[in-house]
Amino acid sequence: METTMQSKPMFLAGRWVQREESIEVFDPQDGSLISSVPAATEDDVLLAIEEAEEGAKRSASLPVHARMRILNDAACYIEDHFDLYAETIASEGSKTIKEAVSEVMRCIQTLRLSSEEARRIQGETIPFDQSETGEGRVGYYYRFPIGIIAAITPFNDPLNLVAHKVGPAIASGNAIIVKPATATPLSALLLAEAFEQAGLPPKILSVITGRGGVIGDLLVTHPAVRMVSFTGGLETGERIARKAGLKKLSMELGSNSPVIVLKDADIAAAVDATVSGAFCAAGQNCLGVQRIYIEKDLYEEFQMRFVEKAGRYVIGDKQSLATDMGPLINEREAERVQQWVEEAIENGAELLTGGERSGAFYKPTVLSNVPSNCKIAIQEIFGPVVLLYEAAHLEEAIDKANQVPYGLQAGIFTRNIESAFKAIQELHVGGIMINDSSDYRIDGMPFGGVKGSGLGREGVKFAIQEMTEPKVVSFNLFQR
Ligand code: NAP
Repeated sequence: METTMQSKPMFLAGRWVQREESIEVFDPQDGSLISSVPAATEDDVLLAIEEAEEGAKRSASLPVHARMRILNDAACYIEDHFDLYAETIASEGSKTIKEAVSEVMRCIQTLRLSSEEARRIQGETIPFDQSETGEGRVGYYYRFPIGIIAAITPFNDPLNLVAHKVGPAIASGNAIIVKPATATPLSALLLAEAFEQAGLPPKILSVITGRGGVIGDLLVTHPAVRMVSFTGGLETGERIARKAGLKKLSMELGSNSPVIVLKDADIAAAVDATVSGAFCAAGQNCLGVQRIYIEKDLYEEFQMRFVEKAGRYVIGDKQSLATDMGPLINEREAERVQQWVEEAIENGAELLTGGERSGAFYKPTVLSNVPSNCKIAIQEIFGPVVLLYEAAHLEEAIDKANQVPYGLQAGIFTRNIESAFKAIQELHVGGIMINDSSDYRIDGMPFGGVKGSGLGREGVKFAIQEMTEPKVVSFNLFQR
């Protein structure tokens, strides 16, 4: 595949194909055109599915050592072309080059983890004689691939979130059709290039570049697709869940994550972690810190330090190593963030820093006293805005932290083990980070949320569980 930033073909069942209609890809920081990709049609979806039926058989029959080698070789290919991958992420998306480098490193790790986990897809023996009707039987179950998986991914981690679906799918012997976000298709195509170079047999992987509104329905409703693995917003996730019908669903959706800071916390560590957790990827992070509940005695000092640090953030050219934060994915999104902040201010919130927009850039913004009925206090902002609240005590912080329709991850800063355990018991989330911000994650841990944050778990080993089904085997030893 050509690796210059010109028109890119898409990867359809092992072949790189162009189409007459294309979708332009822009750099969000200046709106410059960086590439274009084919605008896939429903015919392309049908072709990808038809070929994937053969691909699923091939993938299931690939011996585990071959799956492991391919996954490892794909990781090595990315390592060998590291700069290209990082520069692509930092061109098509919002991330700075520093953030892009970290995403490429994580992607390599995700693929290596997938390679390792391929050898650990195990079943167990079943004690059939626990039932009178089971006497004389021996048996076991082992896990089989589900077949064809449709993977639909968002713009904010355009490489590693795709790897979190493709790696486990190949490790577990499935075929997978990826539909990346229209804003950021290039990183997903580069991932396909790594697998092609690693010798993945054709038809197991497709990356089709089309608009969700055009090809999404067919992809998720087709009966041959046995699982939809979706990462994206709540609204799109709910639409897909309603349409998909009787098939497996994995839904990694959004959140407006809370962090609690108690008066016995290490304040410097709490400020550092929450500032970074709020503004990483310009706040376009499903785990991003959106609400911070600070215990009364610490509030003033925390607010002062937080605002001071946020105000020192360097915003600008994504390709510069000096830049801390880039733009939002497009100007429309920056305008939406601006409107939500203005609505909160009109309703009585206090703007402590930020609140300024220039094109797609929006300054790190800190608000206090945000009324609980404002959009920004309930929904996911998905931008560089954080809300500070004073809490009288831990109970109040937990209660308020839970009063939202999401529950992905939360953080708590405290030196008190009882407080930590109370938060673990009572916060309604998929993960709690003690003395880290809500955005702490490693790629090998179970990852996912409750309530509007989704269904199922990713994190390689856990995605493999979702992408396989147990098949029971019983031997009847009484031969009559
Ligand atoms: P989005 O608008 O929901 O889009 C996500 C994907 O869905 C894109 O590929 C999009 O395609 C596709 N899509 C849109 N309409 C569709 C339809 N009718 N049928 C099938 N697919 C459709 O989300 P986004 O703005 O890209 O990403 C931001 C969201 O993702 C945030 O809510 C964030 O919290 C969430 N997220 C969650 C996690 C997690 O692991 N929990 C991780 C990262 C992000 P087009 O681009 O062509 O519209």
